[in-house]
Amino acid sequence: MTMDAIDRLDELRITALACTACRLSEDRTQVVFGDGAPQADVVFVGEAPGRREDEQGVPFVGPSGQLLDRLLGEIGLEREDVYIANVVMCRPPGNRDPRPDEIDACKGYLREQLQCIDPKVVVTLGNFSSKLLLKTETGITRVRGTAYEWWGRRLVPTFHPAAALRGSAQVLEDMRYDFALIRDAIDGNLDHPANQAEAESQIKSDEDSEQLGLFGR
Ligand code: URA
Repeated sequence: MTMDAIDRLDELRITALACTACRLSEDRTQVVFGDGAPQADVVFVGEAPGRREDEQGVPFVGPSGQLLDRLLGEIGLEREDVYIANVVMCRPPGNRDPRPDEIDACKGYLREQLQCIDPKVVVTLGNFSSKLLLKTETGITRVRGTAYEWWGRRLVPTFHPAAALRGSAQVLEDMRYDFALIRDAIDGNLDHPANQAEAESQIKSDEDSEQLGLFGR
């Protein structure tokens, strides 16, 4: 990462901390900007801060974050090695889903963080970030399990850790499979996206549905 990109990320953070672009700014305690290594090979993208994140100003510090840390450890990574961001940076009241206009107001911040960090691998956690970045309406259960080619890097969609915390053992097992893909993508050792063609054709068939573009357009 160049000094220029580090400076840009710092400036972006300062701007974001004072953001009032959408109504989520009215109820937040703190803006939760992305956190982690600016030179990280992997950027994780969650959905929105929860109560603990809103209090502490850091993404994924609650139970979902603890599971994320555990899964990272299993592929030889620590939180300090990665960068973690969210689709929206302010907590939606009562943990409701972020609304399309709120996602729209925030997506420029996510795009710039990704551009500054320029990671080898982007990991989307759950439906919100996966649909936004892959520009698809197809749900996470169908798109996960594959490392997609995405803007000159790999994108690995997986379940949100909260789904594993309240779901079956199968969700956790699927996340472990996806985390093994992340490891392989970092190492440039991807030879098992066996279902890539099928997943891509599914995404293409969704292209006419409503989309929230992140890059381009
Ligand atoms: N869930 C998210 O999607 N993001 C966080 O930062 C915490 C929980």
